[in-house]
Amino acid sequence: MPSDNAFARLSDFDAMREAMTQTRQYLHAHPELSHEEAETARYVADKLKAWGYEVAENVGGHGVVARMTVGEGSGSIAIRADMDALPITEQTGLPHASIVPGRMHACGHDGHTTILLGAAEYLASTRRFNGTVTLIFQPAEEAGARSGAQMMIDDGLFERFPFDVIYGLHNHPGAPVGKLLLRAGPMMAAADTARITIHGKGGHASRPHLTIDPIVVACHLVVTLQSVVSRFVDPTETAVVTVGTIHAGEAVNVIPEDARLAITIRSFEPKIRDGLQQRITAMTNAVAEGFGATAVIDYARGHPVVTNSEAETAFARTIAEELVGAENVGTCGLIPGSEDFSHYLEHKPGCFVRLGNGVDSATLHSDKYDFADESLHIGAALWARLAERYLQG
Ligand SMILES: [Zn+2]
Ligand SMILES: [Zn+2]
Repeated sequence: MPSDNAFARLSDFDAMREAMTQTRQYLHAHPELSHEEAETARYVADKLKAWGYEVAENVGGHGVVARMTVGEGSGSIAIRADMDALPITEQTGLPHASIVPGRMHACGHDGHTTILLGAAEYLASTRRFNGTVTLIFQPAEEAGARSGAQMMIDDGLFERFPFDVIYGLHNHPGAPVGKLLLRAGPMMAAADTARITIHGKGGHASRPHLTIDPIVVACHLVVTLQSVVSRFVDPTETAVVTVGTIHAGEAVNVIPEDARLAITIRSFEPKIRDGLQQRITAMTNAVAEGFGATAVIDYARGHPVVTNSEAETAFARTIAEELVGAENVGTCGLIPGSEDFSHYLEHKPGCFVRLGNGVDSATLHSDKYDFADESLHIGAALWARLAERYLQG
């Protein structure tokens, strides 16, 4: 192995920290929602082209893929950043706060984009790798069913820009800046939804015996669903079933025809995910039938589980320890949030890393949240060193 000096270190990014902070704060002030990231994509693509990358734009919507090959190496590593913001009105009062009411980088994708740009600039200027780096700037991570990852895959990502492994990161409020967290195997939840309509029989509130009251059915169903996790999921495993909305009725003296519920379901294992769908469907039909009502269930599978492969996680851990020291590399707990990076991991080995955003950081999707600029160079150095080490020799 070449000497350690042959690979990116934190100090190599000292001179770039100021410019990276400016980039991050510029992106923060100019957020674009999922599927609307035209200006962000253009900003990213212009920089990548200037640094000598071969750049493909409009991949799966506003996706940008930048590639650079050095030497004869046949290996290819992909690194992905997400670019979209959220429909939130920022309340931080910061000088670089969003200039657009109702739009905010409240998940730190401005930071993720800046980090990958920083790594891109470094790798293009040093070119100390032997093979191909594929940098994926993905739109619409927050878009739910029309996810940017799936759209880029559907647009031929794997065929047009072949790569062997894929890495991504997310900032992690609650963990100190400078800390990196990894986890082999399942790390972030599958996120599914069930939209349920209970069809009863409406009528006069004073004559319930002539009706089938969907409100009573819905209430029983809400209570029944509380037993799905507690009675059907192995206590050493975990899952979440939350009734997020319940709507029925307009008038105090009317029993309505219908009641509607929307349910969020999170799980970390395919077997449990399947079991939850089966159990929720069966319970809903049984509760409705018991009252003489009927249920229509629209069960939609969202992002799969983020499952990090063993070897790629071990490799990322090694690189992280080389960079920030073993004392600053931890093991991540299960995260009940979901992430569309999971779509890539269904096809390619890889690892999703969590980057400390500060113990006092506001939570993700909060209107007080801000990305920690002090961690930009850590993320950029991680990507640069990971690419150099993966494509060494
Ligand atoms: Zn988010
Ligand atoms: Zn996010």
